[in-house]
Amino acid sequence: ARRNVLITGCSSGIGLALAVKMAKDEQKRFKVYATMRNLAKKEPLEEAAGQRLGKTLEIKQLDVCDEQSIKACVNSIPDRRIDVLVSNAGMGLIGPIECQTIEEMKTVMDTNFFGLVRLLKEILPDMKRRKSGHIVIISSVMGIQGILFNDVYAASKFAVEGFCESLAIQALKFKLQLSLIEPGPVVTEFERKVFEDGMKMDLSAADKETAEMFTNIYLKNYKQIFQSLGQSAEDVAEIILAENPPFRHQTNTLYTPMTTLKYADPNGDLPIDIFYKMVFQHDKVFSASLNFIKLLRWRSRKSFDLGKPSQ
Ligand code: NAD
Repeated sequence: ARRNVLITGCSSGIGLALAVKMAKDEQKRFKVYATMRNLAKKEPLEEAAGQRLGKTLEIKQLDVCDEQSIKACVNSIPDRRIDVLVSNAGMGLIGPIECQTIEEMKTVMDTNFFGLVRLLKEILPDMKRRKSGHIVIISSVMGIQGILFNDVYAASKFAVEGFCESLAIQALKFKLQLSLIEPGPVVTEFERKVFEDGMKMDLSAADKETAEMFTNIYLKNYKQIFQSLGQSAEDVAEIILAENPPFRHQTNTLYTPMTTLKYADPNGDLPIDIFYKMVFQHDKVFSASLNFIKLLRWRSRKSFDLGKPSQ
């Protein structure tokens, strides 16, 4: 039987790409309920779905910040049966916290974190009762590692990761699977919106040094980071579908050296030191990277030795 898939935030980016890829699955394994907050934005999805529209893909309204819209959407699905839930809807926020309002920050938490919680409050009880279901959460590498001027966004994704890590233990008891997908930079609307908002930001509440750091270092390098490291939404969708994802799954191998820093030093100083040097002391990056590689070599040699049979 076909598996019912519900995906949030399908008007663009990863949600759209994944919905279309699953709807076009050659083995016809999925019936996709591609949802979006605003149905007026459904055209790109309709176009990409083509012949699959109305067959293996249906478009429905769902706002992750509105409990009633989640309930209405789930109730409209036959037997309320959702085999695979993909929590994808999300938003970014960059800049110095002095220049952001608490309301803006709350909107990010409400969408990225409580959006997931609202979905699960509606869908998890059914999955538990059936003792089957797979919950795929589009988190981020920023769910495990913070980055300059992404304080609140990183916090929202850390919240997602902590929540899922707790829930995964209970889920196992009910034979449910949870997978956190952690993309690095992906070239989507998200990246464009965040950059534009950053460019428009009123920096008058920040001191001169902070404002310059944001404009002349962060924003100046932003596009280049996405150009050199960025994946496409289709790449990410492909990776999610190709492999049966483990609990944590980073999609961007170009980014893994950065996240590895976190695990290389349990004290947490190493990644902060390297990020600092990358941002403020370009000339020292080279020697810092070399030390990092030496450390990794040392660690891998140690674990290799431990794996050797004793003589
Ligand atoms: P995107 O902006 O194209 O997609 C996000 C979608 O979420 C949009 O269609 C938006 O309309 C929708 N959305 C926002 N608020 C919503 C709400 N209240 N209810 C329903 N839908 C809502 O960007 P994307 O890159 O495809 O983002 C998808 C996910 O990937 C997000 O969770 C994002 O945090 C995550 N992510 C993105 C990147 C990146 O660099 N683009 C990197 C890592 C993780």
